[in-house]
Amino acid sequence: MYMLLKNISKVLTFDDNDNIFDGVDILIKDNEIVKIGKNIEIDNLSGSVVDCKGLIAMPGFVNTHHHLYQTLFRGIDEVQEKPLFPWLIGLYEFWKHIDSEAVYYGSMVGFCELLKTGCTTTMDHHYVFPKGKSPYLIDEQIKASRDIGIRFHATRGSMSRGKSKGGLPPDCVVQDEEEILLDCERVIDKYHDSKKFATNRIALAPCSPFSVTLSLMEKCRDLAREKKVMLHTHLAETLDEEKYCIEKYGKRPVELMESIGWVGEDVWFAHVIHVNDDEIKILKGSGVAHCPSSNMKLSSGICRTTELVKAGVNVGIAVDGSASNDGSNMWEEVRRAYLLNHLKYGNEGLSAYEVLKMATKGGAKVLGRDDIGELSCGKAADIILLDISDIAYAGCHNPIVGIVTCGNSSLVNMTIVNGKILVKDGHLTLVDEDMIKNEANKIAMEIVRREREKMY
Ligand code: ZN
Repeated sequence: MYMLLKNISKVLTFDDNDNIFDGVDILIKDNEIVKIGKNIEIDNLSGSVVDCKGLIAMPGFVNTHHHLYQTLFRGIDEVQEKPLFPWLIGLYEFWKHIDSEAVYYGSMVGFCELLKTGCTTTMDHHYVFPKGKSPYLIDEQIKASRDIGIRFHATRGSMSRGKSKGGLPPDCVVQDEEEILLDCERVIDKYHDSKKFATNRIALAPCSPFSVTLSLMEKCRDLAREKKVMLHTHLAETLDEEKYCIEKYGKRPVELMESIGWVGEDVWFAHVIHVNDDEIKILKGSGVAHCPSSNMKLSSGICRTTELVKAGVNVGIAVDGSASNDGSNMWEEVRRAYLLNHLKYGNEGLSAYEVLKMATKGGAKVLGRDDIGELSCGKAADIILLDISDIAYAGCHNPIVGIVTCGNSSLVNMTIVNGKILVKDGHLTLVDEDMIKNEANKIAMEIVRREREKMY
């Protein structure tokens, strides 16, 4: 089946030549872009024509780090104005109550927000598997992604070093290594799809150096390489983490990862703030998920984006979990990445175009994909169409700069994933947003009420 996007006012392709086209059409066959050009006709083909007059097209954003369940834990009073370690310690007490339903609806809320703000592919890093609850939480996320239609890379996260073993999390949210590894293998075998245009992939993601044992890191590395899936973890996020690694292992976080072979093209890290010049060189070829809002809210620091890009590290942009942001608004994240980069680098700052490229093609590379993140023939039909006719863009002389620096995040008119329109005129097409919101609110309030009743 064909779909023709007609009369698009501007197309940012992010292809190898950085082509930008004015007044063209895009022809989609099933889930693939088959033609970009002027005056394309589909007279003899079966399909639909969508009028895109006045809209700007670009590849959908790729979100490279998230914790979707945290959408149920936004604005929790007990952890506001706290840096990472005390923030985590406070939140584990609420997170220990999550179950299948919470993970399903928490994921749905995040997916809705992401799609409405231009994200077509997202990953998730789920690492909380509370004792006494269903362990099949990745399955709930995969189900949610299929129900709503977003392209989704689930990572099987894990925590194996609880408080009694010198870790940060309470023992009730950690699992033993054997249980973790068996489930890692199960979800890879069941859901990982390595083929072109795959809508679900799996990666392995032990949570962080301070919540897992080194032996779990090594076993996940071996399993991931045997199964040819990627590896992910949090790294160099805070000075507390750096201190922990030096005290526990005699190594700084990046050194520690290098010492166990946890670097390279099949690895990407969230944050990567506290790194020196030598460590940036070590990270060449690996990926980094830059999470500006989370880094600002938790006062973690500023990612060295410009140096990382120059050194050949693959950098993408990410919203991070919604307890540290507290939103899954990909558009705002792009703007904050631009602003934070300029705060740090001034004249050396990345341009609006470069930041948009980081959020699309850059993110695709971080997730190990060359079939998404650009608009050209043979790539997936993951396309967003932007409307900058609002008064907030009046007087703007360069729409590419304007879509990053002017206006508001409701400029996404249409989001197309794998050839299907999932957002039209700013509204979700396949799911009932009100139902999801109401269910999520009910679950979130109940979890927090239960924990607070015990507390006070
Ligand atoms: Zn995170």
